Amino acid sequence: MKQRWDTIVIGGGVAGCTAAMYAMRYGMDVAMLEMLTPGGQTTTATTIENYPGFPEGIQGPELAQRVHQQAVNVGVEIIMAEATGMRTGDDGRWMVQTVKGEMDVAAVIIATGAYPRSLMVPGEKELRGHGVSYCATCDGFFYRGQTVAVAGGGNSAAEEALYLANIVEKAYLIHRRDELRADEYLQKRLFDRQNVHILWNTVVTAVEGEGVVQRLALRNTQTQEPDSIEVAGLFIAIGHIAKTEWLGGLLELKDGFIVTDRLMKTNQPGIFACGDIRDTPLRQIATAVGDAAIAAFSAHSYVDRWKSEHQ
Ligand code: NAP
Repeated sequence: MKQRWDTIVIGGGVAGCTAAMYAMRYGMDVAMLEMLTPGGQTTTATTIENYPGFPEGIQGPELAQRVHQQAVNVGVEIIMAEATGMRTGDDGRWMVQTVKGEMDVAAVIIATGAYPRSLMVPGEKELRGHGVSYCATCDGFFYRGQTVAVAGGGNSAAEEALYLANIVEKAYLIHRRDELRADEYLQKRLFDRQNVHILWNTVVTAVEGEGVVQRLALRNTQTQEPDSIEVAGLFIAIGHIAKTEWLGGLLELKDGFIVTDRLMKTNQPGIFACGDIRDTPLRQIATAVGDAAIAAFSAHSYVDRWKSEHQ
């Protein structure tokens, strides 16, 4: 494996591939580290209807494969290896530790993504993509005029419920406590919506249906009484889990996500982040590719400056 690069992109999802493709087109020498299958979270999406340029929608795996191919076509070197740590190298460079050895790079773009937290209840996994969703912006449109539920009590759940309330006939918000974690202004908007029904002190115990979601089994957390509601969809919004443990405290994080400025710079010079791994209010393919283009732009400026000072 070649060890010295201008830039390494860590993560081969849509954000990583876009950053690597842009970085190559800026004339940098770029490697992209990937773990198992390329494409990241996009490969698990069903039909994506909100990514511009595909008026009939596109399947997640197909979009992921196309973006990956675009990176390969411009000459990005793909290395199948997990990044396990980072340390400072000589002359302000970074040494990225991987399971295949260390890589010596001027700039690093981290695009390792995040995954939605799971409720871990029976039926959730089986009916994922068949009524169980983790993104109202992505899938809410399919439930026009129907009844759905959102699980969670934070800002994401509140925003998902408000978004859905404009589309569906009725939206339940299922929260395990008797007060929401969401910001006051979102709570007020929720309480004002006639078609949002909050089920307090309630958890989902099972997602049920023949091939598609038809009902949810519930339990009251105070009385332990079981209950059930009929819904066509369940949107799970109980937070995301970011893959940042391997950084070992090197970067500033917020709730586990990497803090960047608007140029995708982290608190360490030469390290940039883009996509779902960032501390960001919206995790979408459209925002990930925008972030990625800016991260590559910033990495290019940084590497150019590094070269003019050291070569
Ligand atoms: P969050 O703030 O961590 O809230 C997660 C919610 O899910 C909490 O209400 C929690 O209940 C509930 N929950 C967690 N695990 C659960 C489980 N196993 N079963 C049932 N309920 C469970 O996550 P988030 O809403 O995704 O927000 C993440 C961060 O992004 C926050 O800092 C948030 O402010 C920010 N954000 C901001 C905006 C905005 O400013 N517009 C929009 C979205 C997100 P408890 O309350 O009982 O713990």
